[in-house]
Amino acid sequence: MQNSFPNCLSEIIKTSRDIWSKGWAEANAGNISVRLDPEIFQTEVAFEQRSDWIALGMDFPVLAGECFLVSGRGKYLRNIELSPEKNIGVIELDNSGRKYRVLWGYESGGGPTSELLAHLKAHAIRKKVSKGVERAVIHVHSPNLITLTYALDLDTPRISKLLWEMHAECIVMFPEGVEFVLWMLPGSSELADATAKGLQRRRIAVWQFHGVVATGRNLDAAFGLIDVAEKAAENYLKTMAGGGVKNKLTTQQLQAIVKHFNLKPDTSILNMEI
Ligand SMILES: [Zn+2]
Repeated sequence: MQNSFPNCLSEIIKTSRDIWSKGWAEANAGNISVRLDPEIFQTEVAFEQRSDWIALGMDFPVLAGECFLVSGRGKYLRNIELSPEKNIGVIELDNSGRKYRVLWGYESGGGPTSELLAHLKAHAIRKKVSKGVERAVIHVHSPNLITLTYALDLDTPRISKLLWEMHAECIVMFPEGVEFVLWMLPGSSELADATAKGLQRRRIAVWQFHGVVATGRNLDAAFGLIDVAEKAAENYLKTMAGGGVKNKLTTQQLQAIVKHFNLKPDTSILNMEI
């Protein structure tokens, strides 16, 4: 069965291994969540109530009754492969979307990631916008995107255009641009709210001095957005270190890509000169 629980585990294991090998998740950095297809509960894995109902402190009516596979609080993504049941878990939201309980995993204690609110806010908005298609959220500390936020004065139009100009794949992968979120306390409801606001229009958000969040129909799709944005940031930083940007994709060249692939970009960003 395509959507079996073992398949979901394999995907999160592969993604966490790739994130670690890319250098995007030092120590306990980074977190992953997947909204589970109810079909997976027909497998033989034992799902049972393993915690009391825990208040979320926010309401998620659009996610009422949904289950998520979520990396664990304080856990190392690189250890998921060694022991999934200790480092990730399955949570279920109640029928009001105000509480959750653990159904599987977190066997060494703890619970879901400290960024759970940001993940659930992202799931809630993207479930609505994508009409249920998008199921994956990834947050990592990808170094080139972070470095960019120290090196430059950025906002959403500036970072979007810069990444488009420095790697032709970017406008194809995220024609709607990249949301830029000024620094806020990690794990806070303010950060979750600001991110969710940006994700109404976009699938990738860069957190100043911190990292990046991306969403997608599956983990590969979310990972791919980060991978392409990170490559563009690397191209920019290496070019600057190598003597400065003397050439970049022009607005006309970006417009040609848009036409060729029939993309729907944010034209206010595309037509802006930075
Ligand atoms: Zn982080």
